Amino acid sequence: MASAPNAELLHQPSTPTPDAARPVPTGQRLPPRWASRLTISAFAAIHVVPIALFWTGITIWDAVVCVALYLVRMFFITAGYHRYFAHRAYKLGRFMQFIMAVGGSLAAQKGVLWWASTHRHHHKYSDLDSDAHSPRHGVFWSHIGWIFSPASEPTDYDRIKDFAKYPELVWLDKYYLVPPTVLGVATFLVGGWSMLVGGFFLSTVLLWHGTFSINSLAHIWGSRRYATTDDSRNNLWLALITLGEGWHNNHHHYQSSANQGFYWWEIDVSFYVLKALSWVGLASDLRRPPKRAL
Ligand SMILES: [Zn+2]
Ligand SMILES: [Zn+2]
Repeated sequence: MASAPNAELLHQPSTPTPDAARPVPTGQRLPPRWASRLTISAFAAIHVVPIALFWTGITIWDAVVCVALYLVRMFFITAGYHRYFAHRAYKLGRFMQFIMAVGGSLAAQKGVLWWASTHRHHHKYSDLDSDAHSPRHGVFWSHIGWIFSPASEPTDYDRIKDFAKYPELVWLDKYYLVPPTVLGVATFLVGGWSMLVGGFFLSTVLLWHGTFSINSLAHIWGSRRYATTDDSRNNLWLALITLGEGWHNNHHHYQSSANQGFYWWEIDVSFYVLKALSWVGLASDLRRPPKRAL
């Protein structure tokens, strides 16, 4: 399967890349190296942290912060990391572009250039052999497993040249743990242990699985309006928890659109916010699918 797309891997850049810097072809299931094992341990530990709420208790303000940090960071992931950096679905000034990148980094889903380049790879090889996270390779793999494969580790700068020219984004991509660490410390300083655990860690875990559900469930569960070459689906429930990303079949059909809900009844909160940002001049040129594409 997928012999043609894999052929691209033969076309390496003409200037030889040192072995250490050469990206491993995405989609390969490689046994975890020490760095991957460290990430797996940290990832598993963070899932256990919310249990501490039994000791710290949770206040109404911790719950408010949990929900707010989920929604705000989900917006930055969907509207920023995904629709802007991976798909260039609208335009931003350089300052707003940096704000979007910092906001996305707060979600602790690695760096902006890594995220967007990996996602571009997903669209190019959707549900083929070299897709990094197709459910055809296992639902657990598509949801979480692929993140820990050494094949998924490097940022493929060749695939994200358009944004890798900005030094502030390259810095942020390298030090992607800085923003979420600052956010975690801030929640502790504001609300103590219960806000750190309930407001930050619980929200982060929920946010992870909300985002990951698009890689796993949105290729399995839902309806297919368009006969795309992949398994993408439209699903209202996934659209609600991801602020509009659940219209994934629409998105695979017409990737560069700023809206993923194509009709008024397809709720797409991220797009509504982008529309509001465009009214006040903070975003512009929101791309929409042409009538013939619908
Ligand atoms: Zn997809
Ligand atoms: Zn996409």
